[in-house]
Amino acid sequence: MAGVPGGAGLSRGSGMQRSFDVVVIGGGVIGSSVAYHLSANPAFAGRIAVVERDPTYATASSSLSTSAIRQQFATAANIRMSGYSIGFLRRVRELLSVDGYETDIGLREPGYLILGTPGDIPAFEAKAATQRACGVNTELLTPEGARRRHPWLRVDDLGIASYGPDGEGWFDGPALLQAFKRKARAQGVEYIAGTVTGLDMAGAGQIGAVLLADGGRLLCGRVVNAAGPWSGQVGRMTGLDVPVVPLKRCIFVFDSPEKIPHGPFVFDPSGVAFRPEGHRYLCTAVPAAENAADDFGLDVDHALFDDMIWPALAHRVPGFERLRLLRAWAGLYEHNLFDHSAIIGRHPEVTNLVLACGFSGHGMMHAPAAGAGASELILHGEARSVDLRPFAFERIAANQPIREHVY
Ligand SMILES: Cc1cc2nc3c(=O)[nH]c(=O)nc-3n(C[C@H](O)[C@H](O)[C@H](O)COP(=O)(O)OP(=O)(O)OC[C@H]3O[C@@H](n4cnc5c(N)ncnc54)[C@H](O)[C@@H]3O)c2cc1C
Repeated sequence: MAGVPGGAGLSRGSGMQRSFDVVVIGGGVIGSSVAYHLSANPAFAGRIAVVERDPTYATASSSLSTSAIRQQFATAANIRMSGYSIGFLRRVRELLSVDGYETDIGLREPGYLILGTPGDIPAFEAKAATQRACGVNTELLTPEGARRRHPWLRVDDLGIASYGPDGEGWFDGPALLQAFKRKARAQGVEYIAGTVTGLDMAGAGQIGAVLLADGGRLLCGRVVNAAGPWSGQVGRMTGLDVPVVPLKRCIFVFDSPEKIPHGPFVFDPSGVAFRPEGHRYLCTAVPAAENAADDFGLDVDHALFDDMIWPALAHRVPGFERLRLLRAWAGLYEHNLFDHSAIIGRHPEVTNLVLACGFSGHGMMHAPAAGAGASELILHGEARSVDLRPFAFERIAANQPIREHVY
């Protein structure tokens, strides 16, 4: 059993300076999944620290997420990530329970129902063909077919609907984060409450130490940037441009006399999406514009609900005309400006830096695959559980975007 090749070995620091084989910056669902998977790997015997500045996760994406999972992606790369991840999520009780605590993330799989206009038909057919080629059992429905299944749905302006009957739904995201963290700690990972303020270079293209606001210094073999919406900031600590910025997304909770029990997660062509949550409903809309790169504000945009979301909901489900808004919150997507897809892989210039960021609204569902793959990349130099090559940082310089649809 060995630590990471080129790692800082097992020497223990003392006082303000300590030594770890791997330091993960950010203890959200991604950082915690990487730490769990690495520490679970029998080939790894090194020391792992996860540095998290806010153990309450008050503003972390992982706390504010709606935590849904779909298989209906447009690219094989993302479909594979979802396929691996749903298999993991179905087994969390077995994989992540620790002595005396049985993990339950409340996974439900009622499917995604994605609605399209008549003009969307060719694109829906192309996506369904890609999904089926990857083993996903996507059903394409006529508008009438969709209405027969869901009599509450208005379909007269629709051209097509796409439904994923398998491996699509939602779960308790914060519970998944805590389960990864609990299990990682049980496997020896150390969580350090602290803010990373800088990265010391040890020489050309190597980070030697992670610097903390309290003066602490963590010598390290590898560093993982899993800082979510703050990953661009962490990138700049090494002078690198990691094109990840915060993008505010607002979630609204409402009640309605119209009930859609066991309904799917519905995506309307207007950009509005809604799903049941217990006896109530959650809804959101694709943000119309991007924030400024340094705007981490979490004010709810109430006009978005009044002007866009409510009219769209009432149009699609006439019974929602009489809905009652109960509460709302805003969270930050870790938005990759290049192609709205994750960046997972080693940085080509700073070679002991691994990026696991920019998930652009898919990080909760893809956390298992990202953690498994990134840990293997650290340990073996390549991801084995899932193909991470399409997500490499190098695609940015090569101008090879992952062409995904943004919901
Ligand atoms: C409203 C909303 C809805 C969403 N819906 C879905 C969905 O349905 N399905 C889905 O898959 N995904 C969804 N997402 C996205 C998903 O939640 C994220 O992709 C995922 O949580 C990202 O996890 P993370 O660990 O990278 O980031 P985070 O959870 O934000 O964790 C990053 C952590 O890094 C810490 N950190 C940052 N900088 C530093 C520093 N300098 N020093 C120390 N610590 C630092 C932060 O405190 C934070 O805790 C949604 C997100 C939002 C906001």
